[in-house]
Amino acid sequence: MISSFVPKRVYFEPAALDYPLGVRLKELFSRMGIEIRETSSHNRVTGIPGSTPQEAYAEGKRTLVVGVRRSGEFQTCKPSAHYQLPLVTSCPGKCQYCYLATNMGKKPYVRVYVNVDEVLTRAKEYMLARAPETTLFEGAATSDPIPVEPYTHALRSAIEFFADQELGRFRFVTKFTEVDTLLGAQHKGRTEIRFSLNCNPVIRKYEHGTPNLEARVEAASKVAAAGYPIGFLIAPIILLEGWQEEYRTLLETLADKISEQDPNQLSFELITHRFTPRAKKLITKVFPNTDLDMDESKRKFKYGQFGYGKYVYPDDSKDAAREYFKGLLARHFPGAEVKYFV
Ligand code: SF4
Repeated sequence: MISSFVPKRVYFEPAALDYPLGVRLKELFSRMGIEIRETSSHNRVTGIPGSTPQEAYAEGKRTLVVGVRRSGEFQTCKPSAHYQLPLVTSCPGKCQYCYLATNMGKKPYVRVYVNVDEVLTRAKEYMLARAPETTLFEGAATSDPIPVEPYTHALRSAIEFFADQELGRFRFVTKFTEVDTLLGAQHKGRTEIRFSLNCNPVIRKYEHGTPNLEARVEAASKVAAAGYPIGFLIAPIILLEGWQEEYRTLLETLADKISEQDPNQLSFELITHRFTPRAKKLITKVFPNTDLDMDESKRKFKYGQFGYGKYVYPDDSKDAAREYFKGLLARHFPGAEVKYFV
């Protein structure tokens, strides 16, 4: 199997077939016996089945749309980068608390663009406009781009493009493991690959359709061995029963596998679980039996920087978690950069 993601149906915009990648993908998915459909626009895709919120979500996640990125404008991407690099949207994973869920609509289909070279040419213009400053691009702002990578090789093209850019850097984050096609890419240390990790009980309960911790750590160790700068996002940290032991196991598993890596090249970002009223509504629609802790009475309400409020852990629980992680990281990864704990 090329990827753990095998779509049930693939839509093509007619214009996608004007590009070699579009033609190659159509041939590939036809050979795989996957249903091929046509859509006049990659933004308005009709005919994906699903009459209940759960079915609509599941069918959306099994649908791939192949289109052409027409807008020349890139979205900004503060604080993780200057701009988003638009290559993929959505992802076949079904994490209950997906940070993209509120933006993806009822049928969150996966979308790839075939005009990768045009997107990269545009990225170059953004870099030149900011010269002599270095410009950072984020490849996972609206997606997890790894599950489709074995089909499109878009990340590989971007990595090799940025390897030649004095003024550009690239980064993306993933929970997935299809990294093999990236290992031989010429990257010159200009792309940072981050892995989003969690302890196995959280992965099993809430991150449906994603690889387990050991598989993610294995993928990270391969990427580290290929010389990429790597980072880890531990998110969302959920203070479920026995959380200390579970997150200790996570960091021990990680330390075992990537002990060879220069700790000064590692970074960590730590994010405790939070939810907005809107996200809670959506999650309980798609996952009516969820036991994800979203009890407002046990949380603190906090106004976010983007104007909407969210429920975070109260200060005492959050402080306890911060201290605990600080200790674990100092023991297992002295020298690694801890970018933030929120
Ligand atoms: Fe969302 Fe990331 Fe989970 Fe995909 S892997 S569903 S993008 S949180």
